[in-house]
Amino acid sequence: LKANNARSLWHPMTAPSDSLKNQPTIVTGAQGVRITDVDGHEVVDAVGGLWNVNLGYSCQPVKDAIAAQLDTLPYYSIFRGTSNDKVIELAEELRAFFAPDGLVRAFFTSGGSDSVETALRLARQYHKIRGEGARVKYLSLKKGYHGTHTGAASVNGNANFRTAYEPLLPGCFHIPAPYTYRNPFNETDPAKLAQLCLQALEDEIAFQGAGTIAAFIMEPILGAGGVIPPHPSFMPGVEKICRKHGILLIADEVITAFGRTGAWTGARLWGVKPDFACTAKAITNGYFPFGAVMIGEAVAEVFESDETGRAAIGHGYTYSGHPVGAAAAIACLAETQRLNVKDNAAARGAELHAGLLALQSKYEAIGDVRGGHGLMHAIELVSDRASKAAPDKATAGKVQKVAYEAGAMVRVSGPNIILSPSLVLTAEDVQVILSALDAGFAAL
Ligand code: PMP
Repeated sequence: LKANNARSLWHPMTAPSDSLKNQPTIVTGAQGVRITDVDGHEVVDAVGGLWNVNLGYSCQPVKDAIAAQLDTLPYYSIFRGTSNDKVIELAEELRAFFAPDGLVRAFFTSGGSDSVETALRLARQYHKIRGEGARVKYLSLKKGYHGTHTGAASVNGNANFRTAYEPLLPGCFHIPAPYTYRNPFNETDPAKLAQLCLQALEDEIAFQGAGTIAAFIMEPILGAGGVIPPHPSFMPGVEKICRKHGILLIADEVITAFGRTGAWTGARLWGVKPDFACTAKAITNGYFPFGAVMIGEAVAEVFESDETGRAAIGHGYTYSGHPVGAAAAIACLAETQRLNVKDNAAARGAELHAGLLALQSKYEAIGDVRGGHGLMHAIELVSDRASKAAPDKATAGKVQKVAYEAGAMVRVSGPNIILSPSLVLTAEDVQVILSALDAGFAAL
């Protein structure tokens, strides 16, 4: 396996030359919150798969649901004149789950990028149905991550995910993110920074012309950009501005939905009601590639009452509403609620956060510790705390390597070490992660 790891396989988001030089860890097994590699080394998976394995790797009710579904209806499309029983059941469950966010319809996809693409496209179509066809532009946040399809990549805030594929969609503009540690305003007060970013949004809307903008998309807590929770005033402020200008609000909840933030959804964490919520990842806990876009009542009304023929959706995937994925999602949603994972995320997240702050007081290399909402955390490394200079590129990788030997898989993203473990983590597992990181930083 090691010899062939990068011979016939290209690893996404990785330079092929890098995979050839640095052997990617080969995972061969997983149980509970732990993974085992090809050498038999077992560690706590502090990445939780890829922010998605919220329930851990041994979720029997989901396995049973998938097996049963394979025996009854392994596949049927929900295109043009057909539907299937499982996906109807799931849509009802999701509607109940998302009702407090004002989201009442589900459009099914095969993953996160598909969900973002779907929301972006439906947003444009919504305006066309209403006779506002000039609304085609999208606004998003500079540190945002929304996926890899051409539309989703166009709204990505980080240019590293865009430049190799340009020209992308025209009409996408990126607003400064409320990132307290580093921002163009040099503002260190989170509440004031939120106001400055909201003003930047207003300014961009005025510059572009409100009547040209279809939607604003944001993650309730920026994830891949380095786990950046905004001040509580920020997302409600965005919502207000969007409403004022007739711009649709898309919440990219691919990471934040289903309890990760300590609330059931990111929208509920901040008390906003978006027009769309993009979901994927934990919706099936890694057991099946699946996603859903939840749609708000007012948007649903426009599509459903349209008699002009413009609302023929003309968008969907072969695997939209896959019955096996739907069965997995129904079981995941039931387990998620039965175990009340959001409360464990909040409790374990608080322990992890306190432990990371303790590490920060011990190690100069830790410039910033972010988190504080459930189980999504980032440690930003610096070479010098006063200047906040970025560390040598290899530094975070060194910490990761030693932490792995010491018992925890963590993720490196630029100068950040990112933690997003399963929400069924125990207090002991939290300590394993912290002591592994301690070993990693001690080795620098
Ligand atoms: N949106 C967000 C917020 C994400 O974190 C991701 C994936 N990390 C995506 C969209 C894209 O999802 P996928 O990789 O399933 O296409």
